[in-house]
Amino acid sequence: MATVRSIAQPDSRAMDFVSRTHKMLINGQWVEAVSGKTFPTYNPATGEVLSRIAEGDREDIDRAVKSARAAFETGPWSRLTPSERGRLIWKLADLLEQNLEEFAELETLDNGKPFKVARVADVPLAVDLFRYMAGWATKIEGTTIPISVPYAPGAKYLAYTLREPVGVVGQIIPWNFPLLMAAWKLGPALATGCTVVIKPAEQTPLTCIRLGELVQEAGIPDGVVNIVPGYGETAGAALAAHPGVDKIAFTGSTEVGKLILQAAAGNLKKVSLELGGKSPNVVLGDVDVNAAIAGSASAIFFNHGQCCCAGSRLYIEDQIFDRVVEGVAEQAGKIRVGSGMDSTTDMGPLVSEEQLNRVCGYLESGLSDGAKAVVGGSRFGDKGYFVKPTVLVNTNDKMKVVQEEIFGPVVTAIPFKDTEELVTKANDTVYGLAAGIWTRDIQKAHRIASQLRAGTVWINCYNIFDAALPFGGYKQSGWGREMGKDVLELYTEVKAVCAAI
Ligand code: NAP
Ligand code: MG
Repeated sequence: MATVRSIAQPDSRAMDFVSRTHKMLINGQWVEAVSGKTFPTYNPATGEVLSRIAEGDREDIDRAVKSARAAFETGPWSRLTPSERGRLIWKLADLLEQNLEEFAELETLDNGKPFKVARVADVPLAVDLFRYMAGWATKIEGTTIPISVPYAPGAKYLAYTLREPVGVVGQIIPWNFPLLMAAWKLGPALATGCTVVIKPAEQTPLTCIRLGELVQEAGIPDGVVNIVPGYGETAGAALAAHPGVDKIAFTGSTEVGKLILQAAAGNLKKVSLELGGKSPNVVLGDVDVNAAIAGSASAIFFNHGQCCCAGSRLYIEDQIFDRVVEGVAEQAGKIRVGSGMDSTTDMGPLVSEEQLNRVCGYLESGLSDGAKAVVGGSRFGDKGYFVKPTVLVNTNDKMKVVQEEIFGPVVTAIPFKDTEELVTKANDTVYGLAAGIWTRDIQKAHRIASQLRAGTVWINCYNIFDAALPFGGYKQSGWGREMGKDVLELYTEVKAVCAAI
């Protein structure tokens, strides 16, 4: 494994942006926090402060919600045609694409992920999502419904449904894909005609703030998108509880998801949640072993394991267990860990010191419970928040490393004998976000896919995302689906209209 590299010099536009103190976007104006406070964001490759950001709190959230309400009810946004809305979203996508490199650099500086990944995954996926949602703006339809009304014989009615925007939406997003998670939430809100108050994660606010500048440049009217950076316990909690918010959309930990739900109870706002996971990735004995090894390594190590759908429980059929473990460990050993700005880096630092401590805590707990690290097992270097890609064996179902979401580059490899036992084990979790199956037996693959309690099942692939594919969780992995046609349901109300004719 290579040593931690120093950071290469990013493009001057990204550096200019980073060097500024950032404000929050409320009603089309960049303003300071009411309290005047700011908070720092760090470069996780060095631990140094990158920028300072206005620190939103309850009063800022309140101003932002009022601005979103006015834009929803009386602003120019409420009078735009679906086609006009669609064109504005498309324009936003174009602007994002034009600034792709800068966004990728900002993401790398703030989050730590490799620049080469951010520029082919995070930013293009966000662009694609906006374009996909721009298309939906003109296709959100109700239906006409023939009704019978048994107590009104002979009467005639014309009945139809309208699909209307849910209203003012609060959106709270995480740090693992900061820009992309903002896009997943803003895209459908704009397509359906909602207005938004978005709170980025305290660790990674930069790309969301920069996106706010593009929202203005695209000509999306003032107050439609309000951005209030700040901490979860203050700004986030105030947004989730605000009586003027009609819906809250949250992505993050299951623990905080439950707090969101409680906070939302006050005005019974609609809630959608995209939460954690402990996803099983299953390798059957008949498989193309090399493909399964490469796919299983990337299932866990992509984005440093900081994916809610990371394939963190690797179930391997007995007869090929040793071979697959050896192969995945070999791949892990080849991963070049370093600053995300270095073009040779495959894996950057974890996002924060807190996450470093959390992941290292899990490693210590696993090892002291009797697990063995075939590769990795500890922090990497002593500067920045790097962890060695790790493969654990000799685990049992009771261990924390098998049960809990680690959110780092740590996979537990577990052997199984038959598929019945496998399905029971794979489903033995409070989560149900995703799963992978690697096999040449396509019948068996679809049978197992039907038995797994998960919102996404990948067969002979992993981490394949598309704006048209719904994503979300069974069980405690969440409520509702993002992306695809399904997300429109989260951002609309259905109105039934019945006319006597
Ligand atoms: P988190 O606390 O759930 O953070 C997600 C978002 O929720 C952030 O914007 C956070 O704000 C906000 N938040 C925190 N407490 C809140 C509250 N009481 N009310 C409203 N909003 C609140 O996640 P984390 O602490 O950053 O990471 C911890 C673990 O969560 C990870 O190790 C991982 O297991 C899981 N996680 C899952 C995902 C996912 O995609 N499913 C993403 C990130 C983390 P601040 O960050 O500003 O405090
Ligand atoms: Mg940061």
